[in-house]
Amino acid sequence: MNVCDICKEKFKEFPNSPRPIFDEGKCCNRCDDLIVTVARMIEAIDVKCGQTVTANIRQAIQMREGKRQVVAEYRKQQKRAKP
Ligand SMILES: [Zn+2]
Repeated sequence: MNVCDICKEKFKEFPNSPRPIFDEGKCCNRCDDLIVTVARMIEAIDVKCGQTVTANIRQAIQMREGKRQVVAEYRKQQKRAKP
C-alpha cells in the first residue's frame, strides 16, 4: 500500500511522480489527474505562472497538514482530559 504525498491517503495503484509539486515521492492517480497534470500543463504554457501555481499548491498542502496536526493534538488532549 502506498501513501500519496499530496492527499496523504493510501492507494493501491502504481504510484505516479508528483513532479513539479514535489521533487521526490509518489502520488495517487486522482492527484496526478487533478493536480500534477494541471500544474504541468500550466508550466508548459507559462513557466513563471506554472511555478507560482506549483508554489501555491505546495503551500496549501503544507497548511492542510498543519491543520491536521492541530486537530490530532486537540483530540489527544480531549481524550486525556476525560476522567
Ligand atoms: Zn493523492
